[in-house]
Amino acid sequence: MLDGNAIAGLLQEVFSAEMTTAIGTCGACGTAGPVGAAHLYRGAGIALRCPHCDAVLAKIVRNDSRVWIDLTGIRTLEVTV
Ligand SMILES: [Zn+2]
Repeated sequence: MLDGNAIAGLLQEVFSAEMTTAIGTCGACGTAGPVGAAHLYRGAGIALRCPHCDAVLAKIVRNDSRVWIDLTGIRTLEVTV
């Protein structure tokens, strides 16, 4: 067994990919589509909602030095690398 450091290069490749064209699958209804087509709501942070069932796909909160990302609502995310 290795630890997460063993996939440092893969993680860097995945998280630097163009994310608006990544295909996300909604954890609630199973619909797949580009992240850029999700509905965006702004408040204290950002919420991305499924355009088909309105479930929350992702929540993003940012301050001056950090970003918190909750992808609980996305079952899978397919990115082009
Ligand atoms: Zn949905």
